[in-house]
Amino acid sequence: MPFSFKLQAEDAATGARAGCFATPHGEVLTPAFMPVGTVGSVKSLSPDDLTAAGCDILLCNTYHLMLRPGVDTVRKMGGMHRFMGWDGAMLTDSGGFQVMSLNELNRVREEGVEFRSHLDGSRHMLSPEEAIRVQDGLGTDIAMSFDHLVRLPAPPADVREAVDRTVRWARRGLEERTRLREDGRGHMALFGINQGGTDAAERARCFSELGALPFDGFALGGLWVGEGRSLGLEMVERDCGEFPREKPRYLMGVGHPVDVIEAIARGVDMMDCVLPTRNARRGTVFIDSGRLVVRNAAYAHDERPLDPECDCATCRKYTRAYLRHLFISGELLGMRLASVHAVHHMMSLVRRARAAVLDGRFSAFRSGFLEKFASRETLAAAAS
Ligand SMILES: [Zn+2]
Repeated sequence: MPFSFKLQAEDAATGARAGCFATPHGEVLTPAFMPVGTVGSVKSLSPDDLTAAGCDILLCNTYHLMLRPGVDTVRKMGGMHRFMGWDGAMLTDSGGFQVMSLNELNRVREEGVEFRSHLDGSRHMLSPEEAIRVQDGLGTDIAMSFDHLVRLPAPPADVREAVDRTVRWARRGLEERTRLREDGRGHMALFGINQGGTDAAERARCFSELGALPFDGFALGGLWVGEGRSLGLEMVERDCGEFPREKPRYLMGVGHPVDVIEAIARGVDMMDCVLPTRNARRGTVFIDSGRLVVRNAAYAHDERPLDPECDCATCRKYTRAYLRHLFISGELLGMRLASVHAVHHMMSLVRRARAAVLDGRFSAFRSGFLEKFASRETLAAAAS
């Protein structure tokens, strides 16, 4: 089944959109938030937990999976979906971000990036072609183009060089998918990644080349790396104003609820981030009225669930007092119950945003959400 994206509604007052796309592993509703299953698991959660939370698409990391267990093992086990027992859609990143961020000793050449494994120091090479072959071997539904990102702040000449290389690598990735398709493989969708950091002119220059290539969707790369919310959102507005209306737009690495809603308001369809689940494992969860630190002594006798507005399996059954006790005692169940809430909360957030776009009331939803999130109203200790 070919990848197809259908735009279902556009908000009249903002850039917000609602849509859906078809994959061989089911339909994905947008706006979508993708939990991150780094090595083929969203830590402490099973695929059934993700399905119960309403998740229809998951992100896995190519870099981690190619090093362990290795693409040959995954291929022999029938692909990632079968290997990990996940029936929904899957997007893999290209591995580019990890080879450049987890490896001090990487060497970027025109051919690709040479790096050492963070596991055992062994030498590897990831090229635009190899990134496509590995993602195909993993059996992903959506693959990402191998891009060159620079660590910001960087001199303008470095940003320019990374943009030029990103475009050349994008072409090579598309050519590799064509070769795979001639062999009866390479059925996955492929998204291009726009680069240029926070230099608006460089982002425009990058997209003037990238936008002409036959990608199935486009991603906003090189953002949320420390530039700050207002500058990041300015670049999001810039890119979305230029990306084609009829293709999905993916903002990489964004997962703070406020950023998610503000990005949706500027026309983003998909996002991913480890933030909600990583925070949850460390005992901090987002709820509708802000950020709740579970260990806080104020919750020692609090009978309320984490989020009184949430209907996840954790909030339906357990009190803040019990969750606090689990975290203070170092019990694994605390991490798991907090993660169940974290994924459910993000799914609920994007579903509510989607419903608001479809009903033509996104602006009211957005201001109501932002006001409540800033209120911190249920974060205080319950009145005794
Ligand atoms: Zn909950």
